[in-house]
Amino acid sequence: MRAVFDSGAEHTFDLVVGADGIHSRTRALAFGPEERHVRYLGAHYAIATLPEDGPPLPAPAPAPGGPLVALMRSTPGRTAVYGGTSAMFVFAADPPPAGRADDADRRRLLAAAFANAAEPVADLVERALRADDLFVDSISRVQMPSYTRGRVALLGDAAFGNTLAGFGTGLAVIGAACVLAGELAAADGDHTAAFARCGALMRRHAAPARTGNASTFLAPSTAMGLWLRERMFASPRLTRLLLKSTDAFATAGELPDYPRPAPRP
Ligand SMILES: Cc1cc2nc3c(=O)[nH]c(=O)nc-3n(C[C@H](O)[C@H](O)[C@H](O)COP(=O)(O)OP(=O)(O)OC[C@H]3O[C@@H](n4cnc5c(N)ncnc54)[C@H](O)[C@@H]3O)c2cc1C
Repeated sequence: MRAVFDSGAEHTFDLVVGADGIHSRTRALAFGPEERHVRYLGAHYAIATLPEDGPPLPAPAPAPGGPLVALMRSTPGRTAVYGGTSAMFVFAADPPPAGRADDADRRRLLAAAFANAAEPVADLVERALRADDLFVDSISRVQMPSYTRGRVALLGDAAFGNTLAGFGTGLAVIGAACVLAGELAAADGDHTAAFARCGALMRRHAAPARTGNASTFLAPSTAMGLWLRERMFASPRLTRLLLKSTDAFATAGELPDYPRPAPRP
């Protein structure tokens, strides 16, 4: 594979692995445009470290009886969480325009979604919009018929991302460090055999990432959905169960026990 970098440098590689996240440029180059592989799930999220100017913000507090310590305010389709220095927002929004929305578009989405919010959420949003590190992105799910093409393989969110589903890191590490590396070593460098095995294993292992939409839980669209979510967060047992089950999505499946590769001469 010949790769040309932005700097103009050119290099030749045996294999190219795209582990460049849910908006993977490698995927776009090798498999086609993002719209073909990434489905928008109806909501965005935003994260920011809030400027500490202005009147002090309310202190985060434990949810009644629950293990989470945060200030959380929700109305249907919108949730704001403040954890002490940073805030996160999840909000329903129209799909981004075809192609990538720019930073200003995303800031506008956040401002519009919380335009009529009451305090303290209005203050959180106002500070977030002034934060140096405000990050806003869509909540989306990647749906790929195959994770490999020729000598290119996709891993992690580029291949099976599902924003905020709670197990993406586990899947990314298992796919990269374990399955792809293990299969390449087991196939003695025969990438065709290794990619086929890796693809089949990860398709099974990453199955939970191909369904589900975290925004329906994080920012439920109905009052009933919100009520149920609050009840769950108020219960330490149910909250622990939820966290355990999302962990299990990444870690519970059976994987081959790959031998440690021989040291290189
Ligand atoms: C707010 C939030 C909370 C989350 N919480 C959890 C959680 O609790 N548990 C969990 O398991 N997962 C969680 N996730 C998901 C997790 O972060 C991802 O699934 C995981 O990081 C995917 O790893 P990745 O290596 O595939 O992609 P990424 O972590 O997105 O890494 C991709 C890397 O590629 C780089 N890159 C992109 N394009 C280029 C380019 N053109 N050139 C060079 N470099 C490039 C990026 O800078 C980045 O460093 C969360 C995600 C978010 C957004």
